[in-house]
Amino acid sequence: MSYSDNMFASLFDKQKANQFNIGNTNYKERVIKLKKLKHALESTYKQDIRDALYADFKKPQLEVDLTEIYPVIDEIKYVSKNLKSWLKKQHVGTPLAMLGSSSYIINEPKGVCLVISPWNYPINLTFGPLVSAIAGGNAVILKPSEMTPNTSRLMAKIVADLFDENEIALVEGEVETSQALLELPFNHIFFTGSPAVGKIVMKAASKHLTSVTLELGGKSPTIIDDSVNIDKVVGKIIYGKFMNAGQTCIAPDYVLVDERIKESFITSFKKQVSKFYSEQPESSEAYSRIVNKKHFSRLNELLEDSKSQNAKIDSGGQSNDENNYIEPTLISDLNEDSKLMQEEIFGPVLPLKTYKTLEEAVDYINSKEKPLALYIYSKKKKNINYILDNTRAGGTCINHNLLQYLNHNLPFGGSNNSGIGKSHGYFGFLEFTNQRSLLKQHTFGAVDLLKPPYNNWKQKIVD
Ligand code: NAD
Repeated sequence: MSYSDNMFASLFDKQKANQFNIGNTNYKERVIKLKKLKHALESTYKQDIRDALYADFKKPQLEVDLTEIYPVIDEIKYVSKNLKSWLKKQHVGTPLAMLGSSSYIINEPKGVCLVISPWNYPINLTFGPLVSAIAGGNAVILKPSEMTPNTSRLMAKIVADLFDENEIALVEGEVETSQALLELPFNHIFFTGSPAVGKIVMKAASKHLTSVTLELGGKSPTIIDDSVNIDKVVGKIIYGKFMNAGQTCIAPDYVLVDERIKESFITSFKKQVSKFYSEQPESSEAYSRIVNKKHFSRLNELLEDSKSQNAKIDSGGQSNDENNYIEPTLISDLNEDSKLMQEEIFGPVLPLKTYKTLEEAVDYINSKEKPLALYIYSKKKKNINYILDNTRAGGTCINHNLLQYLNHNLPFGGSNNSGIGKSHGYFGFLEFTNQRSLLKQHTFGAVDLLKPPYNNWKQKIVD
C-alpha cells in the first residue's frame, strides 16, 4: 500500500490507539508473529527476495541467503528462545533504609516506533530491527531505502501480507517520506544509515524528545602486524571487503600494514583476488554491482582524486559505467588529505597505508572519528592488547572481520560518530523497551519514620 504525507499522521494515530493491545500481548503471542515473519523469509518469499536483490544490484544468491535472510531467521530463533525470560518482571534488591518494600524492573514497550533503514542490506537491516521491536511489544512503521526499489516494494508486500497496518506498516518513499515521518512524535526511532543523516534524525527526534538508536558508519580500520600469515589474512580481508562490492558498514575501509610486509600484502592480494572473482570479476556471479549511478560516480571521483595526487593502483582500478561495475581495487601511496583517506569509502576500493611502529598506527586511528569496527591481525598478544587498550571502537574482531556482527550475544553498534545505542539479541530488545522501575511498599515502610515534623522520629517508632 502506498501512503501520502497526510496519511502518515493518521497511520501513526491508528497505531498509537492500538499500542496497548500490542503491548499487552504475552511472549507466546509475540513469538507467533516472529514465526510468521520467519516463515515468509525462509519459505514463501525466499526466491522473491533473491530475485529482488539481484534486480537491484546483482547481489549473488548465496550472499543474499547468508547476509540478508539467514541473520534475520537466526535473530528470530534466538529472540523466540529467550523472550519469555526477558519479559519476566525482574526482582531486584531493596536497600535496608526502604525496609518493607519490594523492587522490580519491567521491560515495557516503548509504544509506536519508526525504523529507517539503508539500501546495502535492506532485508536484514529492515527486518532485523523489526524483530527486536516486535519482541518489545511495539507498533512499528518501517521506512526502507528508495535506492533498492525492487526490494522495498517486495518488503511492503510481505509486511502487508503478514500484519495489520495498525500494528506494523511499511512506507515506501524518497527522502521526503523520511522527513515527513520524522515530524511525528514517535516513542522510539531506530535509524541505520550514514552519520550525516544520523544527525538529521537526532535533531528531528529532539523536537519530541524521542529516544533514538543510531546505527551509523564511517571508516573502519584494519591493523596488520608483521607476525601474521599474510596469505591467510589477505584472503580474509578480500572476503570482508569485497562482499557486496564493499558496500558493507563494517567492511575494512582501509588497511594499515607494517611497512615490512607491504610488498607481500600486494603480491598476495593480486594472487587471491583473482581466485575469488576470476581474472574478469565483471563476469563473476559472486560479485555485486554498485547500487546506482550516483554511488558509482562518487566512487570513481574518489579514485580520480587519488590518482591525480599520484596514488598507485596496485591491483584493479577498472570500471564500467554501463552496469555500475567497479573492479576490486587496491591502492597505495595516498595523500592524507585525499578523499579516499577522509571519507567512508563504501565500495570496492581498499587503500593500503604503511606504518613503522604500532604507536604510529594507533595515533593515526585516534586522529579520526571513533570507528564502527576496528580489526586487528596479529599473533602477538602484546600487540593485540596494546591496540585494544589505546583505541576506541564500536566493536573489534581479532584475526578476522565481519564476524562480530553475527554473534547475538554481542551488542552491535558504534560509538559517538559511528552510532548511539546497540542492536541484536537482548541489546536490540532493550532499545525497544523502557526499563520501568517498580517499587511496591508493603504494610510498613522504614522511610515513613522520616516524615516531617523531623524532631519526633523516636515517638513515631513508639506509635
Ligand atoms: P543514508 O543515511 O543516506 O540513508 C539511510 C536512510 O535514511 C534511507 O532510508 C534514506 O531514505 C533516509 N534518508 C536519507 N537522507 C535523509 C534525510 N535528509 N532526512 C531523512 N531521511 C533521510 O545511508 P545509505 O546510503 O542508505 O547507507 C549507507 C550508510 O549507512 C553508510 O554510512 C553505512 O556505513 C551506514 N550503515 C550502517 C550500518 C550499521 O549497522 N551501523 C549498516 C548499514 C549501513
